[in-house]
Amino acid sequence: LERAKRQGRNIWQWYSSHKIEHSRNSVNLRHDLHAALNENQFEIYYQPLVDAVTGRMRSVEALVRWHHPARGMMISPGEFIPLAEQTGQIVPLGLWILRQACAEMADFNAHRERALPVAVNISSLQFIRDGFLDDVRRVLNETGIPPQLLELEVTESVLLDGTAPVIELMETLKTLGVRVALDDFGTGYSSLSYLRDLPVHKVKLDRSFVEKTATDQRVAAIVQGVITMAHHMDMIVVAEGIETREQQEDLARRHCDILQGYLFARPMPLAELKKLPDHLPVNTAK
Ligand code: C2E
Ligand code: MG
Ligand code: MG
Ligand code: MG
Repeated sequence: LERAKRQGRNIWQWYSSHKIEHSRNSVNLRHDLHAALNENQFEIYYQPLVDAVTGRMRSVEALVRWHHPARGMMISPGEFIPLAEQTGQIVPLGLWILRQACAEMADFNAHRERALPVAVNISSLQFIRDGFLDDVRRVLNETGIPPQLLELEVTESVLLDGTAPVIELMETLKTLGVRVALDDFGTGYSSLSYLRDLPVHKVKLDRSFVEKTATDQRVAAIVQGVITMAHHMDMIVVAEGIETREQQEDLARRHCDILQGYLFARPMPLAELKKLPDHLPVNTAK
């Protein structure tokens, strides 16, 4: 009994110190986020999206990176975006990302024969906030990027505070020429009614589906169903997280339109994007 108690206590101590360490990290990161924008610690990486059949680059997704000076490495957006959402810093950060991605891609496209659209992830908080539409208009004006080359990626969580204002905003964006994509589709609940209600032009199937399509018949049935339904509603379907040739072939056979994943290219700095060929051969070495 004594031994079990001791062990139990050890486990508890390990657990609690682990937790404290974790929250201390969050506090520090939260603090560091404040300085990071002024000190130019963010950079936009770009990941190509390719035609599922031909492998031709069709657009890119902007993915923010944080070069944290003290940690000497990049911190993943999966870690700091939620923190920035909690503190409200996502608003200035999100605006910076939108402006930076549009400015860089306007410049990038000036040197290309065929212009590439850019997709920018928008946090729900940022999207439903008053003033977002004005921000988009201002960024379009300032950077000169044609609205048709800007796409906004939002997730189902934009609907948390109600559907009607979100639909209205999406319709207004549409009249501006800016398109909206529904990101991470299938990770939330009641996704099918969202698909019916939202004026989005593109659906991005979450990576968790792509991983299982080849091995799980039920997942494959859902994926096939979503692709067919989306096409009936004139939406384009993207599959995220394509890592293998099998996944590529499977999704292409199911008439998924666009693929994105490490098989083709990882997110990369603008300078590297500039060197890419128009068609991306699959990267089997990975
Ligand atoms: P997301 O928008 O769904 O972006 C796709 C994520 O999948 C990216 O992770 C990308 O690097 C990763 N990915 C792409 N292909 C593959 C693959 O083949 N295999 C695997 N395992 N992963 C792949 P990343 O860049 O770490 O971003 C994570 C999430 O953070 C994003 O998910 C998005 O929700 C958020 N995020 C990233 N950049 C921004 C941003 O600028 N603003 C906002 N609000 N959120 C962002
Ligand atoms: Mg995205
Ligand atoms: Mg996604
Ligand atoms: Mg995702």
